[in-house]
Amino acid sequence: MLSVEEAVARVMAQVTTGATERVFLADALGRVLRETVVAPGPVPRFANSAMDGYALRATEVPGTLEVLETIAAGGVATRIVGPGQASRIMTGAPVPEGADAVVMVEDTRVEGDRVVVATHARVGQHVRPLGADVREGEAVLQPGTILSPGAIGLLATLGCPSVRVAARPRVAILSTGDEVVEPGFALGPGQIHSSNTHSLTAQVRAAGGLPVDLGTVRDDPRAIAEAFAAAASVGDLVVSTGGVSVGDFDHVKGAIGSGMDFWKVAMKPGKPLAYGRVGGKPCFGLPGNPVSCMVNFYQFVRPVLRAMTGDPHPFLPVVDAHLSRPVKRAPGRVEFLRVALSRHDGQLLATPVGGHQGSGNVRSMAEAHGFALLDADGTVIEGHVPVQVFDWSFEAASSPGYRWGSGAPEVGEAGCC
Ligand code: AMP
Ligand code: MG
Repeated sequence: MLSVEEAVARVMAQVTTGATERVFLADALGRVLRETVVAPGPVPRFANSAMDGYALRATEVPGTLEVLETIAAGGVATRIVGPGQASRIMTGAPVPEGADAVVMVEDTRVEGDRVVVATHARVGQHVRPLGADVREGEAVLQPGTILSPGAIGLLATLGCPSVRVAARPRVAILSTGDEVVEPGFALGPGQIHSSNTHSLTAQVRAAGGLPVDLGTVRDDPRAIAEAFAAAASVGDLVVSTGGVSVGDFDHVKGAIGSGMDFWKVAMKPGKPLAYGRVGGKPCFGLPGNPVSCMVNFYQFVRPVLRAMTGDPHPFLPVVDAHLSRPVKRAPGRVEFLRVALSRHDGQLLATPVGGHQGSGNVRSMAEAHGFALLDADGTVIEGHVPVQVFDWSFEAASSPGYRWGSGAPEVGEAGCC
């Protein structure tokens, strides 16, 4: 049986980066940049004032100066500032020729058409020089950058209305099983609601993909084979759930057929994983057990999806945490233990959730922030463990609140405005 490491390496070795598209800045948040952004000009474009005040020659103050004009942001100076002179200037307005400093208005006093400056000034004071932030021709953003609000602001500053990013990979999602019914429909005897379709849809979306839900196929070999072919024609990736084990009605392996690369990985939960190609598209037959399905998505599908976008860091981040209690286990396979994380005195505490941690224990996934990664050997695990994190909400929950605040914020009464 393949180890997780070998399986991940096999799957990742076959990834090719996907298509790109140009999007407006309004749609760029969180997308993966697929071009080098070179500044077409300097930022600031012109030396401008960082304060409301007076533009003058630093050597002229303290002193009383003649006021030539007022320069607003968006305006231009019409006068050169000479000895004994100053121009009133607003924040963001171009610094006039002749001036080499700005004195803030709070340090001045107007006397008729003159200004009295009581303070000294330093050359360059309160002046934002041309190109101080970005030089013309400088490469400011590299391919693979995940576009943040700050990066989007920078693009806008440079005058770029749109940007080239990775297209969201389309992930065709297929559920299988005669017992599986969509939430919202009444259950007959022996039936269950499909959790996997919806957890996978959310996982795909959270990973920056475009989920295409193709519904549930009955446990019939032909129907499943046809559904896989259809899925491969609509998705850049195909992900199915269920029907991949050794049961009498498990037909996913047959549907992948000669395109199968491997089946079964030495991991717990999630052993029955089929990977291969259908119609040239990477295809993952994930187990039907809800936890196994989610674990396998995070280990194999998510990294592939991220790598397709050109993300240079396609794997979930791993942090060091302290297990809240020793965990007993049967050695043999690496294990993904669902843990809730919390921070105490700067250290992360990992608390196993969901009782017995069975592969069908859906609730454990709702309570977990990550997987403690347990090596294949060892029967009792305690102390420090690496934890793969998929939910960072615990950081805010463990935080004492706002740095300068006094604890919990005041929340207004419902209905008040
Ligand atoms: P299977 O891999 O098809 O043998 O399914 C393993 C277990 O997962 C069974 O208990 C199934 O009922 C359950 N299962 C399969 N598909 C889903 C699904 N879409 N949502 C929730 N549970 C499922
Ligand atoms: Mg099944």
